[in-house]
Amino acid sequence: MITKNKNSKNVYLSIILPVYNEEENIALQYEEILKSIIPLKKTYEIIFVDDGSTDKSFKILQDIARKNKFVKLIQFRRNFGQTAALAAGIDHSRGQIIIIMDSDLQNDADDIENLTKKIEEGFDVVSGWRRDRQDKFFSRKLVSKIANWIIRKVSKVNIHDIGSSQAYRGNVLRQVKLYGEMHRFIPVHASWLGASITEIPVKHHPRKFGKSKYTLIRTFKVLLDLITIKFLGSYSTKPIYFFGGTGLILIFASAISFIAVIAMKITQNQSMIRNPLLLLTVMLIILSVMFFLLGILAELLTRVYHETRNEAPYKIRETINM
Ligand code: UDP
Ligand code: MG
Repeated sequence: MITKNKNSKNVYLSIILPVYNEEENIALQYEEILKSIIPLKKTYEIIFVDDGSTDKSFKILQDIARKNKFVKLIQFRRNFGQTAALAAGIDHSRGQIIIIMDSDLQNDADDIENLTKKIEEGFDVVSGWRRDRQDKFFSRKLVSKIANWIIRKVSKVNIHDIGSSQAYRGNVLRQVKLYGEMHRFIPVHASWLGASITEIPVKHHPRKFGKSKYTLIRTFKVLLDLITIKFLGSYSTKPIYFFGGTGLILIFASAISFIAVIAMKITQNQSMIRNPLLLLTVMLIILSVMFFLLGILAELLTRVYHETRNEAPYKIRETINM
């Protein structure tokens, strides 16, 4: 079960960072965050979620948490992925404003101030836009430009970059349920829940230490995820509309094909048995029945799915300062 911290009044800013083998980065990242948030003079918590690191990351984080009780630490039993890490951080956060960023020094802690300001202006979600992205051109920048474009078109959420640091109104983000590899779609989910969303340009740095945890394959996963969330996430598109709708179109097509068969028989005395369109008619009818059945099954599944969503998608070994 997820244990949510209900007491959200007394922390203003929650900074959440997923950590997976970032031993060279996290100490520096922590320093940078402190440097940027101390001048803001707000109550804060920095939540590091160690996503099953196998290097010294956890040890380093432990030392940091020992010295600063505003640093909270969650350690996973194994690597559950960035989405689960963020979900754990969010579940355990108390801040009125939540900032999520990477722990690899690629996002700039200086942007925390501007992200926060936009939330204070009244937006629920502020997405960072890495205008000058410091990654490899082809495998990263170009591919992500295309992916972002598709996501924009499909989700109708108008932001340029879904993969950077982001700020959220705490109670909005704590309502969004994360699963699979879907942390990239948090802004989309939030927006579908009715959150107001905006974006600001943020700084971006090349990765100095450690390796990126992802490869080009991720982009394809992201696109598949997009189809899934479009499907599961958007409350208005029920599966029966999609499958049943397709089924109806197929029935319609099969009717046209059947009429054509009969018309050919009457006008040209074309044998119905030898007419390939008859085969098409039958095939379309079978397909449409399949689609209807799939639609009903999908409806059933989504209900089961939503009922059973109480279990957290991660296992915690240890928490510190919680
Ligand atoms: N990360 C994680 N679990 C994973 C993979 C990545 O917590 O399984 C963290 C990682 O430590 C980093 C952030 O997610 O803080 C983004 O990962 P990365 O920098 O490798 O992605 P990129 O910037 O290359 O897109
Ligand atoms: Mg990175």
